Amino acid sequence: FRSLRPPVPLPPPDAPLSFPAFAFSLLHQSSSRAPRLLPAGPALLDAATGEAVSFPAFLSRVRALAGALRSRVRVYRGDVAFVLSPTRLDVPVLYFALLSIGAVVSPANPALTADEVSRLVSLSGACVAFAVSSTAAKLPAGLPTVLVDSPDFLSLLEDGQGEELALDTVVVRQSETAVIQYSSGTTGRVKAVALPHRSFIAMVAGFHALQAKPRKDHERTLLGAPMFHSMGFFFAMKGVALGETTVVMTDAAARAGIRGLVEAAERYAVTEMTASPPVVMGMTKETCPLTALQRIFCGGAPLPTAAHDRFRRRFPHVDLCMGYGLTEGGGVSRMISSDECSHTGSAGRVTENVEARIVDHITGEPLSVGQQGELRVRGPSIMTGYVGDDEANAATFDSEGWMKTGDLCYIDQDGFVFVVDRLKELIKYKAYQVAPAELELVLQSLPEIVDAAVMPYPHEEAGQIPMALVVKQSGSKLTEAEIMDSVAKQVAPYKKIRKVVFVDSIPKSLTGKILRRELANQIHLCPVSRL
Ligand code: AMP
Repeated sequence: FRSLRPPVPLPPPDAPLSFPAFAFSLLHQSSSRAPRLLPAGPALLDAATGEAVSFPAFLSRVRALAGALRSRVRVYRGDVAFVLSPTRLDVPVLYFALLSIGAVVSPANPALTADEVSRLVSLSGACVAFAVSSTAAKLPAGLPTVLVDSPDFLSLLEDGQGEELALDTVVVRQSETAVIQYSSGTTGRVKAVALPHRSFIAMVAGFHALQAKPRKDHERTLLGAPMFHSMGFFFAMKGVALGETTVVMTDAAARAGIRGLVEAAERYAVTEMTASPPVVMGMTKETCPLTALQRIFCGGAPLPTAAHDRFRRRFPHVDLCMGYGLTEGGGVSRMISSDECSHTGSAGRVTENVEARIVDHITGEPLSVGQQGELRVRGPSIMTGYVGDDEANAATFDSEGWMKTGDLCYIDQDGFVFVVDRLKELIKYKAYQVAPAELELVLQSLPEIVDAAVMPYPHEEAGQIPMALVVKQSGSKLTEAEIMDSVAKQVAPYKKIRKVVFVDSIPKSLTGKILRRELANQIHLCPVSRL
């Protein structure tokens, strides 16, 4: 299956081009005022304080920081920089500066525990970190760390302090890794996903083609997703490239929850916003009219049909654009999207430059229109692979280079993709990934637990919650609450086990693999689409 629209032209793949160099070349074309003049509106706006960063200031900070990163912090091309920061206005500046010198950005959730952070640092091979005072202690001792909330960092952003760098000084090939994100993929524990510069070039080029009509300088996008998440990361990059104002839900603003998000959308008259399904559901309960809002990009997990309809009734003037993607495909951005025409219940159509097929997930046989099977994808935004994990890469790509998504889908005669269920082990709590294998290891290490499995359990607000099926030692008095507490002490809050069921045994294959389908049938779990 291919897009109904013509392919979007991309730069020749062998031409050296970093994502920032591409983004800034688009930016210079994006102003409606005159070619090569930067847009007049701010590039970034802090939703909490109203502080703004203009496009000229953004560019000059990126250049100053890029120079200082090389001359003062000694970060070079190919170095992996781990970023453990809540959303702040200077985080996109840091991302662009690192990418422009060919360093690899690896953002992670600041809510992770120190053990979880250490594991990601070793998976990515990071040699430097950027953190804030409250997250730095979670980084492994000995990892050189720059505090982005310190006066020293501010001095790196200022003109004349460092060696200002022209953005094409460092030659970066499009195939070089730009970003490392984290995902457990179809099975097992979390892995490091390597995404090349070309992935971001292709995704931004897709949005640029979509929005090729002359744009007004006051186009504003509210970024609800945090910037370490693939969706937040990408939308922060795309906003700058397309000359939009990105209204940023900085940490202080995000604390006000969905109400704060809707109020910020109203206050700053945003025209576009990103939201996960739980946020879209929550928005329908708020009273703001959101008259300026034109479209909302939603993805990362299924949105129940009833919630879709409720949103349409509540905000009839807003296009609810569903999108489907996965970290391994560059995020929820330009893979499958309903931006051209939406169809309730569908995640959208295959976008330009992406090829999709539905196959029987056991035999690999291609299936046709309307038949359910595993969705496989190919295209320029797809990851180069999991870092240092040949076994996972061999299991994820088939012999023709198609990437297995682990999602059970079908595509109808009009090209709309419907996600029916997840074949893979992944749990999505409020669109955040929780890997069952990781929680199973924690559970199995607890006293008085003989065996355990973790499964997704349907939940109206969160989509799914992690549920543990636990086999206790005979005679043990261990309670559900004690198990939940013990796990909560060892994992980030969004990974907490929120339901425990005691069982007599966990069904396993001869090789010891948990038979998850059998387990789901035993406890009568319904597929994700029916949540
Ligand atoms: P992540 O890598 O965290 O972005 O998670 C990717 C997974 O989220 C996909 O493989 C799907 O299982 C799920 N997902 C993403 N978007 C959608 C959607 N629109 N509808 C249903 N599931 C989705």
